[in-house]
Amino acid sequence: MVETALKSPRISFVSLGCPKALVDSERIVTRLRAEGYELTKTHAGADLVIVNTCGFLDSAKAESLSAIGEALAENGKVVVTGCMGAEPEQITAAHPGVLAVTGPQQYESVLAAVHEAVPPKHDPFLDLVPDQGVKLTPRHYAYLKISEGCSNRCTFCIIPKLRGDLVSRPAGEVLREAEKLVKAGVKELLVISQDTSAYGQDLRYAPSLWKGAEGEKEVATRFLDLAAALADLGAWVRLHYVYPYPHVDAVMELMAAGKVLPYLDIPFQHASPTVLRRMKRPASQEKTLARIQAWRSAVPDLTLRSTFIVGFPGETEAEFQELLDFMEEAEIDRAGAFKFEPVAGAVANGLDNPVPDEVKAERYDRFMRTQQKVSARRLKRKVGTRQQVIIDAVTPTGAIGRTKGDAPDIDGTVKVASRRPLRVGEIATVKIEAAGPYDLSGTAVGF
Ligand code: SF4
Repeated sequence: MVETALKSPRISFVSLGCPKALVDSERIVTRLRAEGYELTKTHAGADLVIVNTCGFLDSAKAESLSAIGEALAENGKVVVTGCMGAEPEQITAAHPGVLAVTGPQQYESVLAAVHEAVPPKHDPFLDLVPDQGVKLTPRHYAYLKISEGCSNRCTFCIIPKLRGDLVSRPAGEVLREAEKLVKAGVKELLVISQDTSAYGQDLRYAPSLWKGAEGEKEVATRFLDLAAALADLGAWVRLHYVYPYPHVDAVMELMAAGKVLPYLDIPFQHASPTVLRRMKRPASQEKTLARIQAWRSAVPDLTLRSTFIVGFPGETEAEFQELLDFMEEAEIDRAGAFKFEPVAGAVANGLDNPVPDEVKAERYDRFMRTQQKVSARRLKRKVGTRQQVIIDAVTPTGAIGRTKGDAPDIDGTVKVASRRPLRVGEIATVKIEAAGPYDLSGTAVGF
């Protein structure tokens, strides 16, 4: 009897989409755990399923709809949230049985829907939540979301429609969250947003109070100031979703000094100035290649990761070739590509001269072949060097980890042989002995 009265309601959580959606999921999960809900790994044993959807591309929408269908079939009680929730009719048309649909970042509405379907049984003594919240990523790395929304208007993207204009979190608030994470054992902070280089523009870079190791001081809500203050926390700091604006040059100093990881994730999307103009990309007027070359001479081990769209409406063979040339000349270490897909509500859908599917497929293959070649060439240079490797998983013969040039999930890995057992989250020095197109292997020589 007593056991039943105290039994916590169980929630199964499906998190789809990008790292930004993952941060939303973490917030919802933290709140649920604070209220005494438990998480379960299977839909069947849960009292309710929450599906955090992605609505960026039509293929992501299809994946979201099928995840909702699975949850309905296996459990029956389903609450939907996330980007696709901004267009609830699409979800209810396919799955009229869902209990509620809420949009991105509508944490309160998700919780209200959960409370209604499965009321909480909160016991403050049993359900304490760690101060740093509940992370869905392994404990040694965590995503740090520094802003919501985006004030750019790229023609292929509906994120500003879904999430609104840029809203930055004051620097002091971000730093306090980062400090808690580091105190809780996080060794790597992955800074994310829609446009990290624009951080603080909406707040006119207002300073906010932060009590760091050297006492209380003011930190401006600005990309460079935040990166420098994060670096002082002592964890690896990795910057994602940065655009090549001139003010980004200054971050190279932090990288050269070993404070911020020599890694930049810049979603270029294309290299041809005419395509970039049709895409209305931020920083499309900048002299990107020259800028990258200057960065590389300041920080020789800089890793550049990017994403590109092939087959954007009107893309000619010559424009596509400009993209391939850029990949080679800029030596983009890591890159993913998408074949252009119209996203409901995006301006680009109405542009002239759509590229036929077979041309898109052929360009995609050529892009990936070029990318593989560049990646293999860049990795080969690491053979014989010693690299700091953060351990993500332990295997019977050693471990799997990542160099400073590899973000979790999207980049490559290092297979590490080791005489002594390695621990997850440990940073080891590894002598690199072999390189493939995407991954490295080597032996731990320092711990
Ligand atoms: S920068 Fe462009 S692609 Fe990225 S979220 Fe903003 S509008 Fe979308």
